[in-house]
Amino acid sequence: MMLEEVGGCELLSDLEARARLEREGTRVTLAGELSAVVAASCRRCLKDLETNLDVDFRTTFLPLPELLPEEDEEELELTSEDVELSHYEGDELDLIPLIRETLLLEIDPSPLCNENCKGLCSKCGDDLNQRECGCDRASYDLRWSALQDLKKKPN
Ligand SMILES: [Zn+2]
Ligand SMILES: [Zn+2]
Repeated sequence: MMLEEVGGCELLSDLEARARLEREGTRVTLAGELSAVVAASCRRCLKDLETNLDVDFRTTFLPLPELLPEEDEEELELTSEDVELSHYEGDELDLIPLIRETLLLEIDPSPLCNENCKGLCSKCGDDLNQRECGCDRASYDLRWSALQDLKKKPN
């Protein structure tokens, strides 16, 4: 399966998928588990991170609406609200968009290497997790709080 990146994040491992296909008339349900390792950077210190993703998914595929015989409509009503719906055409299921979406939902949009990551020094750019560089960052902090005060004031 060829998928090298998801939402701008590089995949570091092969994508593994274990899935079961269930067929019920024209309705096809795919349920299983996806796992992959994606690359990300800590939003504070920019360190490279590897994130393991393990996602359970369950999606029901229905034939495109125009292919649906009318008498089948009742039967095809969804039994569960949380089941995702996709459509298929002909005999093929296009799984790439499904996989992409499933992984995207799981990727942390603002990853941290560690909850207590101190980030980079706003002055010299040193990684504060490695060492305290000793810069005077107070002026930066002051400006920042002045900015926040401005935001609070009504115009
Ligand atoms: Zn970090
Ligand atoms: Zn510094």
